[in-house]
Amino acid sequence: MLVFFAPLDDEELENSGNGFKAAIPRSLIRRVLFACHGHVMSGHGGITKTKFRAKQLYHWKKMSRDVRNYVRSCPHCQQYKPCQKKVTAGEYMPHNISEPWETVAVDLMGPKPTGIDR
Ligand SMILES: [Zn+2]
Repeated sequence: MLVFFAPLDDEELENSGNGFKAAIPRSLIRRVLFACHGHVMSGHGGITKTKFRAKQLYHWKKMSRDVRNYVRSCPHCQQYKPCQKKVTAGEYMPHNISEPWETVAVDLMGPKPTGIDR
């Protein structure tokens, strides 16, 4: 097995041996990604979590790109995970007003709570 020294933090720089990651050939990347993301015990984590798991044990070039593509194309995640897109206001729809006071809008509030009598 070919190993690659890629410590993630100072702790792995010490003599613990955790800084050495298994070098993964391109032919095995999908299997590794399945183990880190798609396996029953992996829980279909997001891109960040899957990349973190992969970096703990493995190393290959362009890991971030491969993880991102794998997670985004996972059929299980596409079917069951909710959309993470931020909800924004709709597109601005200008009113075509031709003369003043043609359209009036009022925001009504109330009744408001009264103050405490002392
Ligand atoms: Zn998934």
